[in-house]
Amino acid sequence: MPRGAPLITRWFDGRSPKARAARVWVDGDTLVVVPLEEGATPTRHPLSGVRWPERRTHGQRQTELPDGGLLQHADAAAWDDWWLQQELGESFVVGWTQSWRGVLVALCVTVLVLMATWQWGVPWVSERVAHGLPPAVEQRIGAESMDQLERGFLQPSTLPPAQQAALRKRWQSMVGAAFPNGDAPTHELAFRASPRLGPNAFALPGGQIVVTDELVKLLDDHPEVLMGVLGHELGHVRHRDGLDMLVRSTFLSAIVGVVFGDMGGFIASVPAALLTQSYSRDAERRADLRAAELLHANGVSPAVMATLFERLGEFRRAKGGGDALPIAIASHPDDEARVQFFRQWSPADGQP
Ligand SMILES: [Zn+2]
Repeated sequence: MPRGAPLITRWFDGRSPKARAARVWVDGDTLVVVPLEEGATPTRHPLSGVRWPERRTHGQRQTELPDGGLLQHADAAAWDDWWLQQELGESFVVGWTQSWRGVLVALCVTVLVLMATWQWGVPWVSERVAHGLPPAVEQRIGAESMDQLERGFLQPSTLPPAQQAALRKRWQSMVGAAFPNGDAPTHELAFRASPRLGPNAFALPGGQIVVTDELVKLLDDHPEVLMGVLGHELGHVRHRDGLDMLVRSTFLSAIVGVVFGDMGGFIASVPAALLTQSYSRDAERRADLRAAELLHANGVSPAVMATLFERLGEFRRAKGGGDALPIAIASHPDDEARVQFFRQWSPADGQP
């Protein structure tokens, strides 16, 4: 049903330079244009695509149609009267931003956009920045991190060289079985004593995997569990979780570093981030999945990992646990959920 009376005005179809007389009115969400000549086809235009004329200006009213056509009306007052009768009125264009409801909706949308940016945008950008950094920068950050930890937390290993060699050999052969195409992530095992961290292991950007003497001793009779822990850390290396976490937590200096090619500020902020930030839960779940896959590829049931959590629990009860290093395995939350995960894992589980 037309709202208000139709108006007779000049219509250009957008192809011919010739103006034709047409009757126009608004019907629902469309503007209907019906040429006056016999047998002409009416056209309908969605209101959202119509560019109405500015009502404050003098002179003729010109309306742009979505198909490239044009309406021209010489009598501005008559056009404005007609336009108001169509009951689009102020509510359609101007009124929306003036009403408090409109303001409230706009405010809510803004807040939601900001929250979404924080929730998904920052991690998304961080991951891309982290994965886009040149390997040399990652190596430098890794070396920097290792220095920092060696000053405060780590000492040279006291494990007998033969034991270290045997563990390396075992690990190499398990990695070989899990990556038969030789495409294992580049990494390096580092044995270190750490009375402060206690039984622990962690991966650093650049591929260093640190395992403490205390953890080796804790799992002395279960070397396959130690291999599972290394599998978890190799998962962090493979997905570059360390670099991702550092970029995310030092977001601005990392972005500035990438944009201006000066990584100094970013690298300077690494030590503080390293001591306070943890990996995301998703990153931990993914690393557990990689550990399970590595064990399975070697014919070891991932369920053996339950022993890790039992032993860490006993150690905490007896000694109160070591200092927390959030990226290290002993600091990861959710022991029970993780035990469940390893017990229930099956080769059919996805590989995100
Ligand atoms: Zn982890």
